[in-house]
Amino acid sequence: MKICVVGAGVIGLSSALHIQEICQNVEITLMSEKFSPETTSDVSGGFWTPFTVDAVKQPIIRSWAKETLDYMFRLCRSIDAGEVGAQLLSGYYLPKTDQWFKDIVLGYRDMTEEELQLFPNPGGGVFFTSASVDVKSYLPWLMSRFKANGGRVLKIKVNTLAELSPEYDIVVNCCGVWAGDVTVDSSVRPIRGQLLRVHAPWIKHFIFNLSSENYAYIIPGAYDVVLGGTFEEDDWNEKPDSRVRERILNNCSNLFPSLKAIKFSSDWTGLRPARPTIRLELESIQTPTKTSMVVHNYGHGGSGVTLHWGCAREAAKIVAQAIHTLSTRPKL
Ligand SMILES: Cc1cc2nc3c(=O)[nH]c(=O)nc-3n(C[C@H](O)[C@H](O)[C@H](O)COP(=O)(O)OP(=O)(O)OC[C@H]3O[C@@H](n4cnc5c(N)ncnc54)[C@H](O)[C@@H]3O)c2cc1C
Repeated sequence: MKICVVGAGVIGLSSALHIQEICQNVEITLMSEKFSPETTSDVSGGFWTPFTVDAVKQPIIRSWAKETLDYMFRLCRSIDAGEVGAQLLSGYYLPKTDQWFKDIVLGYRDMTEEELQLFPNPGGGVFFTSASVDVKSYLPWLMSRFKANGGRVLKIKVNTLAELSPEYDIVVNCCGVWAGDVTVDSSVRPIRGQLLRVHAPWIKHFIFNLSSENYAYIIPGAYDVVLGGTFEEDDWNEKPDSRVRERILNNCSNLFPSLKAIKFSSDWTGLRPARPTIRLELESIQTPTKTSMVVHNYGHGGSGVTLHWGCAREAAKIVAQAIHTLSTRPKL
């Protein structure tokens, strides 16, 4: 059985690893136009926090999110934590809203009056502990595990998934915001995000201000601090904008004035793969010569890291079922 995973972001890499783990006697190729450090996943803050996915209406998203956070907590405690920059991360989320993930993260509670004094516009807020990874270390680490397990890697741009059908029995589509180019789906669209990575080792807590004016977030990672951000729907521009950089620096410094002292390091821009809902399902594709199976795993919006492990396991289970269907189908 030959399986091809298209896409080498956090979703493609974790899906490929899970398929290796649960499917026996298969040959797996990971095919991608771009690899780390050039994917959207490399831009991510690497922080477990749900954003732009509707988990309130969809309980399955909550279960993928929980599975992923439990895994990230295990990673934080493992001997690999230093290599992938995995860390427990506590901090402040403003303004106060009733978050569905309050029972998934650790120690979720309302901020005290004294804590609220630390920030401008105190409209209430919550404090909790989550986890993060340094994506620029984590993605190569996933890739090295995939290769060590015998995975094959090809750098190539795919035009349509159907063109892979003659060679592969099962194709796994992890193309992020570009999924609509390789399969018929007009509902995937970009939500552009720009952020800065700066040197500010004194920042130890995450701070989010999600109010629409002065929207800002600060995420300290193992090696740098991420300052964000923007949320620009249907904008395909992947180049950083210097005016946006100034706005991010202003908003983050207003939220936490010690950041006025930082020296600017680097700008990053990425396209969140938005979709009314995540597409994680099986489709069979009929070509003139054979029927092949496609497993779609894309459309994770601003939550690709937050959901990747749970979604990858689900995708691998679907692949295992597809293998079973293909291998038990009567031959003509
Ligand atoms: C500024 C910003 C901050 C973010 N912060 C966070 C965060 O803190 N936490 C969080 O959970 N999420 C965050 N996100 C969201 C997260 O980055 C995305 O949800 C995630 O990266 C999506 O992963 P992916 O693997 O689906 O897509 P990508 O990382 O974009 O990977 C897609 C892969 O498919 C390949 N590909 C596409 N088309 C083709 C083709 N035709 N042929 C061959 N290969 C192809 C690409 O080359 C690439 O390798 C953030 C996003 C942005 C923009």
